[in-house]
Amino acid sequence: MNEPHAAVVAEEFVALYGREPEGVWQAPGRINLIGEHTDYNDGFVLPVALPHAARVAVARRDDGVVRVHSSQGAGAVVEFTVDSLAPGSVAGWAAYPAGALWVLREDGHALPGIDLHLDSDVPFGAGLSSSAALQCAVLLALDDLLGLGVARPRLARLAQRAENDYVGAPVGVMDQTASLCCAEGAALFLDTRDMAQRQVPLDLAAAGLVLLVVDTRVEHGHADGAYRQRREGCERSADLLGVKALRDVEASGGAELDALLARLPGEELRRLARHVVTENARVLEAVRLLDEGRLRALGPVLTAGHASQRDDFAISCPQSDTAVDTALVAGALGARQTGGGFGGCVIVLTEPARVPGITAAIAAAYAARDGWNAPAFFTATPAPGARRLR
Ligand code: ADP
Ligand code: MG
Repeated sequence: MNEPHAAVVAEEFVALYGREPEGVWQAPGRINLIGEHTDYNDGFVLPVALPHAARVAVARRDDGVVRVHSSQGAGAVVEFTVDSLAPGSVAGWAAYPAGALWVLREDGHALPGIDLHLDSDVPFGAGLSSSAALQCAVLLALDDLLGLGVARPRLARLAQRAENDYVGAPVGVMDQTASLCCAEGAALFLDTRDMAQRQVPLDLAAAGLVLLVVDTRVEHGHADGAYRQRREGCERSADLLGVKALRDVEASGGAELDALLARLPGEELRRLARHVVTENARVLEAVRLLDEGRLRALGPVLTAGHASQRDDFAISCPQSDTAVDTALVAGALGARQTGGGFGGCVIVLTEPARVPGITAAIAAAYAARDGWNAPAFFTATPAPGARRLR
């Protein structure tokens, strides 16, 4: 299916650099079924890889020079050297491939220069993780070309470190692990504390269901203050509660949890902690439902997850809330904003026959609001994780 993509990326590489690439690799974007902002709290997540992917053609150079180009970049080839890599040394989109090289060098590997061409159909800033797709495609290409043999969960940790320390975005490890470790037809149940993982079969068609993705067309920003502030609030809450991470809070809900959280000073920290604790419980519940083949029952879990993002973690936005509410009124089984928040995409669990009605209702609700971009829609099918294409 992806061979035509690989041929195009390889041809563009030849046109740019005047020689053949040594290979073409791709890494997908993802949606997250449930488990938002749990990944930097040592918690659980349940992402699904998308058919949308970043594809890179790469060839080594023997002079330590790195040249990178993106079909979605400003046009120019960005050039730097392996020796000069240090956090912040390359700005803009090229910081992602530069970060991939930097983190492998930090990890003790000797690196050559490279020529690289990137083409991606993961939309930017839409909560579908175009950044991890890009970073993971480059890391997999380097691992493969140089024969490093780094296990994928560890490669995901390196990708996270590159995004944290080189690019400067305080993200958790979900996106990178999803991109590298997801399997076709499955959701990835990941424990971000020890990277333990299991593929949970997700056969939507067999259950007579689809996952509709609604791009709210509100761009989020990971590196911005709001994400960092949530992260710091969670870490502070864990400290004050005397646990290593919010993952370790013993109560999963109800009065018992309220009593525990009452020890935190102020409603804001209590709400942040409540989201993370209840969200971890929702991931476990979702996995149980998938294991039991009860896919329809997943709907209310998704919707409860959205309410928690909106009311406790305060990371939704009017466009996301409207998409969720409108989908539910139009008969969806469940809906929630997916990804880091403040916009991006909403996922909707529903029957295929309801999709036209739901998309029309959401489009109409957006059109009625001043200044809202028209939403975009696609249905998600669980795709394979990162791999070499040629
Ligand atoms: P998300 O990962 O949710 O899409 P991020 O803000 O984390 O959003 O990452 C988006 C950034 O990743 C872009 O601003 C750009 O710098 C970089 N990026 C992703 N894909 C590409 C691409 N194909 N070409 C150039 N830059 C890209
Ligand atoms: Mg990202």
